[in-house]
Amino acid sequence: MRFVDTHCHLQAETFAADIAEVIAAADLAGVERILVPGWDEESSLAALALIDRFPGLAGVAVGVHPHAAAEADAPAWERISALAADPRVVAIGETGLDFDRMFSPRAAQLANLRRNLALALATGKPAILHCRSKAGERDAQDALLAELRAAGFGGEAGRAAFGERPPAVLHSVSGPVDYVEAALAVGCAVSVSGLAFRRGEEATAESVRLVPPDRILVETDAPYLSPPGAPRRRNEPAWVRVTTRWVAERRAEDPDELGQRLVANHDRTFSRGAASGASSTR
Ligand SMILES: [Zn+2]
Repeated sequence: MRFVDTHCHLQAETFAADIAEVIAAADLAGVERILVPGWDEESSLAALALIDRFPGLAGVAVGVHPHAAAEADAPAWERISALAADPRVVAIGETGLDFDRMFSPRAAQLANLRRNLALALATGKPAILHCRSKAGERDAQDALLAELRAAGFGGEAGRAAFGERPPAVLHSVSGPVDYVEAALAVGCAVSVSGLAFRRGEEATAESVRLVPPDRILVETDAPYLSPPGAPRRRNEPAWVRVTTRWVAERRAEDPDELGQRLVANHDRTFSRGAASGASSTR
């Protein structure tokens, strides 16, 4: 069976000592694509340094996470935007909204999300979206949908920049079923992580069935969100097998066919050297 890990923070400190072994283990497990997203300037640069060292990594995303929204000032954002031109940068992020932990004030998170979405449209590289509300609430999900629509995702601007490709990915999807449906209507791809196994995420698990075959993705979000069976202290890309087999089961799909499709979906969504929409969107 073939596997992809569309979201794996291999540049995190916890992998520094044995990164080569972790990548080799993923390789041996059949993980054919690993995408390494940044969360601020330093981690975006670290992701690029990592792909210099390990050119077999599928790609990198650069951007600013909602937790870091208030810290990343205008000059830092200028430098991150410049990194986005690198052909090995295949997506913008991770960005999004986190109204659960609120490490950055709401206004800073919204402003940060807007600049990341604008960069995605300008480069034709999809936005990787993190979204969390407090338990039982959905204000972050609703605000994210409103921002996507306001930026032109799912409309003229989105089509000009991305054509038929997904303009954004709901990374580590979490939220009510109708939120996922609305994001699908905007054209988003949906990436499932170990979070879907947790108590309180029943709606998330339910929504896994609803994603069209060409827009489903799977990830670890390592070193976080260990699926059942993986060590809690550090998740690794090889563990994407657990979540992927579960996704196949939930969707009543043949695992081998799903594996083939995951590789194709990854490559279509995060195509290197994708035609830039910059010329048509200004
Ligand atoms: Zn992440």
